[in-house]
Amino acid sequence: MMSHVQPFQLEGKPARGRIVRMHSVVDEILTKHDYPEGVATLLAHALILVAILGNTLKFEGKLILQAKGNGAVTSLVADYKSPGVEGSSGEVRGWVNFDPDLYEAAIADGLEPSREVPQLLGAGHLAFTIDQGVDTERYQGIVGLEGATLAECAQKYFDNSEQLPTAIKLSASRNPDGWRAGGIMLQHLASTGGIGGIGGDDAIIDVGENQDELWREGAILMASAKDEELQSADLSPEDLLFRLFHEKGVRVFDPVGLNVLCQCTRERIGAVLAQFDNAELSDMAVDNNVVVTCEFCNKDFKFAAPDA
Ligand SMILES: [Zn+2]
Repeated sequence: MMSHVQPFQLEGKPARGRIVRMHSVVDEILTKHDYPEGVATLLAHALILVAILGNTLKFEGKLILQAKGNGAVTSLVADYKSPGVEGSSGEVRGWVNFDPDLYEAAIADGLEPSREVPQLLGAGHLAFTIDQGVDTERYQGIVGLEGATLAECAQKYFDNSEQLPTAIKLSASRNPDGWRAGGIMLQHLASTGGIGGIGGDDAIIDVGENQDELWREGAILMASAKDEELQSADLSPEDLLFRLFHEKGVRVFDPVGLNVLCQCTRERIGAVLAQFDNAELSDMAVDNNVVVTCEFCNKDFKFAAPDA
C-alpha cells in the first residue's frame, strides 16, 4: 500500500499514535491542481494531518480541517472520511485558495516549510470540524494560527483545549517520481478519553507513577524522525517505528488504506445551482452553459442555461 495510516501503541509507555504515508494519493491531489510548490507543500501537510487525526475517530464520519488566513493563502480545506466498512479505505481530498502575487512576494522573502504558517497563511485560524452525518450535531474546535507550522498549530489546539497531550510531525516534498508526504503523531494515553472525539483513544492503561515522564520520553524519541524517513517509499512504517522506539518496543495494529475520493456529484452541484434564480443563472452562463468546477477535484459540471 502506497498510501495508508498505521496505528501503533508503545509498550510500557502511556502513548499511542499513527504513522501516515501518502504517495499516490498526495501526488494525485497536488498534480491535479497544479499549485506552486510552497502552496502544494502546505496542502500536503494538511492532508497528512487530517488523515492522522481523522483515523482516531471512533465512529463513521468526517474530519474537516479548514484554515483561514490573511496572507498569500486565504483558505485551505482538507478532509478525511473514515472507511464505511471494515477493510475499506479512508478517503481524503483538499484544496487551497491563494493569491499568486502575494505568493510571489512570499517566495521573494525566502519561503521555508518550517515557517509555512506566518509566511503563507499569516494571521487567522484553524478549525477542526467533526461531521457524523446529517442528523447529528457537528463538533467544531478552533485555534488561532499561532504556530510556525500546521503541526505546531495543531499541537497548540490540543494543549489549549484540554485534550490529550499530542505531538505531531509532518513532512512533504516533490521528488522526481512525484509528491511524497508522511507524518507521525504520538498521543498521551490517559484514563479518560479526548473531548469532542478527536484523538480520543480511551484505553486505560496502568504504567505506574511516571506517566508524564514516560510520555515525554516517547515524544522525544518520536521527534527524532527525519523527513526522509517520514516520506520514504522504502522504509516500512514498522521499520521506522522500530528505529524510533526499539528500546521499549512498539505494537502495531492493522493499517488503513487511503484513497482520493471526492463526494461531488451532478445532483449535489445541481442542488446548489437550484438556489439561484433564472436571471442569476443567465449571468453565470457562458455560451448558453453554466459550468461549475468542483474545488476539490477540479471536475467540471456543465448545465444548460435557463434561457438556452
Ligand atoms: Zn469533486
